[in-house]
Amino acid sequence: MPAKGWKTVTVSDQVYDYFWERWSENRKKIILKHGVSSFSGYLTRILYDTMRRDEAQSRFAPLIDIIDLFEDRVVLRDARKDRIAEVFVRNGQLYCNLCESSECVHTGYSLAIPEVVEGMQKKGYRVNKGKSWTSSK
Ligand SMILES: [Zn+2]
Repeated sequence: MPAKGWKTVTVSDQVYDYFWERWSENRKKIILKHGVSSFSGYLTRILYDTMRRDEAQSRFAPLIDIIDLFEDRVVLRDARKDRIAEVFVRNGQLYCNLCESSECVHTGYSLAIPEVVEGMQKKGYRVNKGKSWTSSK
């Protein structure tokens, strides 16, 4: 039985070994990058990031797709406009070259991708905690 407030999930040896190998090989890097200190924390982080990404994608799907993800920018395909949007950091804010704006559906979409936020913060993007982005319909 797990401790109070915890649940146990059963996975196959193959799945466990796959993640255990990644954790064992990259432990120091993972701890630094994600601030987790255990294998369990690492798996929780993966699940959380995946969930956030799925939420972002289902919110706009199939209107916006990720074409490419770089550390400092994200390339999106906007099916409604039939155009490519590139989102990157400019003056400490996310900027979309398609809309020439910091607050469009593309920057909003990008902010829901954890890897993007992390990369953007390294490039000088500051998360404004007092303000949260909401979808404009
Ligand atoms: Zn845009």
